[in-house]
Amino acid sequence: MTGTLTIAGLGPGDEALITPEVSAALVGATDIVGYAPYVARVRPRDGLTLHASDNRVELQRAGEALRLASEGRNVVVVSSGDPGVFAMASAVFEALEQAPQRHDLPIRVLPGVTAMLAAAASAGAPLGHDFCAINLSDNLKPWPVIERRLRLAAEADFAIAMYNPRSASRSEGFARALELFRDAGYGERLMVFARAVSTPDQRIETIAVREARPEMADMRTLVILCNSATRRVGRWVYAPRQAR
Ligand code: SAH
Repeated sequence: MTGTLTIAGLGPGDEALITPEVSAALVGATDIVGYAPYVARVRPRDGLTLHASDNRVELQRAGEALRLASEGRNVVVVSSGDPGVFAMASAVFEALEQAPQRHDLPIRVLPGVTAMLAAAASAGAPLGHDFCAINLSDNLKPWPVIERRLRLAAEADFAIAMYNPRSASRSEGFARALELFRDAGYGERLMVFARAVSTPDQRIETIAVREARPEMADMRTLVILCNSATRRVGRWVYAPRQAR
């Protein structure tokens, strides 16, 4: 008997931001696989096995999900936000590449509300014009690549959504990113720090790049460097639709 493998995004935190499609997949699941804090967001019930793992074992976790599905289980791999944005969907397909015998498994990827969209919505409309997303973690790519992308994206006047800006073990990178923006002359651009969006700990702060300090970001923060046309209106910020 063949099971199913569903790769689902749980959104940024608030249950109201989990899509009905993802909720239905969770109801039909026999097994939940994922990083422990995300698995903890799924309510336990009879008949549901929770497989929580450490953050660093993505490929192993994906392989386990494929194996369980091939044994007839209905497996849901959970990520926060959207599963295709710096999350488990890529890891599952990488594991699938290494397991040709599993290529016929029924696999679905269910989108979720990614952090940058929830963050932008709570600040106004800073992603209303062209933008990009860059992961500041150098766990899986060298720092010079990150720095080059930040420099070129800022030069092209994209708004830049920065995921994983700063952790206890990676406190340097974000400080260097701020320095890079200042040195390139973007000190007056607005920067949004959106922490724990859609949770009781939510905090949204908008300041100029020149005033930003590295400690303002942590692993629960999504940082947006706004484009040069972005301005404040009351407590909101927005990027006008028309380019200059
Ligand atoms: N797949 C996720 C991103 C995983 S990377 C998504 O689509 O949102 C983890 C990073 O996402 C965090 O370091 C932080 O930068 C951001 N993030 C996730 N949830 C967040 C939230 N509720 N508020 C602010 N940032 C969040």
